Amino acid sequence: MRITGVMVQYYKSCHRELWYFGNQINMNYDNEYIEIGRLINEDSYKREKKNILIDGTIAIDFIKKRGELTIYEIKKSSKLEDPAKYQLYYYLWYLKNKLGQIVKGEIVYPKEKSSETLELTNEVEKEIESILEEIPKIVTLKTPPKIIKKPYCKKCSYYSLCFV
Ligand code: SF4
Repeated sequence: MRITGVMVQYYKSCHRELWYFGNQINMNYDNEYIEIGRLINEDSYKREKKNILIDGTIAIDFIKKRGELTIYEIKKSSKLEDPAKYQLYYYLWYLKNKLGQIVKGEIVYPKEKSSETLELTNEVEKEIESILEEIPKIVTLKTPPKIIKKPYCKKCSYYSLCFV
């Protein structure tokens, strides 16, 4: 199973949302496909690149290279801070473990004029690995996990499937 950053985010926010997403919704990307190695080795590369899909698995809002490479994830609000952080952690983990690239991550909340820099620790890496083992178990369940009401359910695209 190809695990995307959104699936990691849903794992942290709602297992039922993850199940719906993994079973019923097709992702449509219009992002630019790019090889991370080529990007990193491109000496002339100075400006940021936006909406980048790597390996068809991770979708990065934009990348900047100023000495070191930083990937950015932009979020409308910090209400789902923890799930958003794990999405970005997964990208950092993927780049390190699948593509051998160690980069920094920055999560940005433009409306709140705040941001946070993320780096992988051994602990986070282990947690990501355990999440990656758990996601297929949830997605392949015959029926969706039970509803656990959350403050953001009303804004969830699956609201009508859960509560109507
Ligand atoms: S509406 Fe709530 S319980 Fe249902 S999938 Fe969305 S977040 Fe999960």
